[in-house]
Amino acid sequence: LFIAFEGGEGAGKTTQARLLAIWLRDNGFDVVTTREPGATKVGMRLRAILLDRETTALSSRAESLLYAADRAQHVDTVILPALESGAIVITDRYIDSSLAYQGFGRGISVAELLAVNEWATSEVRPDLTVLLDVPPSVGLNRFASPADRIESEPEDFHDRVRRGFRALADAEPHRYLVVDAAQAQSEITRQIQEKVLSILPD
Ligand code: C5P
Ligand code: MG
Repeated sequence: LFIAFEGGEGAGKTTQARLLAIWLRDNGFDVVTTREPGATKVGMRLRAILLDRETTALSSRAESLLYAADRAQHVDTVILPALESGAIVITDRYIDSSLAYQGFGRGISVAELLAVNEWATSEVRPDLTVLLDVPPSVGLNRFASPADRIESEPEDFHDRVRRGFRALADAEPHRYLVVDAAQAQSEITRQIQEKVLSILPD
């Protein structure tokens, strides 16, 4: 079982992914938690390039390929081996982040990004994608100050990213759980557990 968390800045993906992993482990499941970009050694180097504010004038296509390269390494060395061992894999971001940020955010063709990413991942797709949906004004305010290169983008960029995630969810409602991430954390956790319970293997 492969579960992805998606959403904009400050949506609480990392927190909810961790809470879901703890809950599943308490219920006897073998769980691997991971994240993008930067789950692997080479991925950490790509993450540094991608998020360093010293990285200037990175072209949108180059940016897209660096995220895809991180993802290819992630699938080949972390996600696929874990799935093959029978673990439940929970990732903090996956392909939909590229479609939302580089597609809707930067204006790259979503269809072309999808093709690149299907190749990069050998078409490994999540069984469930949890979209933690929050207005950028709320999410970005959960940080003291803009931390990295992407978080420093103007609010209209983050608005496009949010609309992008919601459009992706609308297009594939069977794969997505959309959760209002402005709610209390315990309520968000409850809605995620309810959904995951309905798709768990016996
Ligand atoms: O989730 P986390 O904040 O660790 O992600 C790192 C950053 O990478 C985020 O600020 C996010 O905006 C950015 N990102 C991106 N395009 C992707 C994936 C992540 O711009 N495809
Ligand atoms: Mg971030």
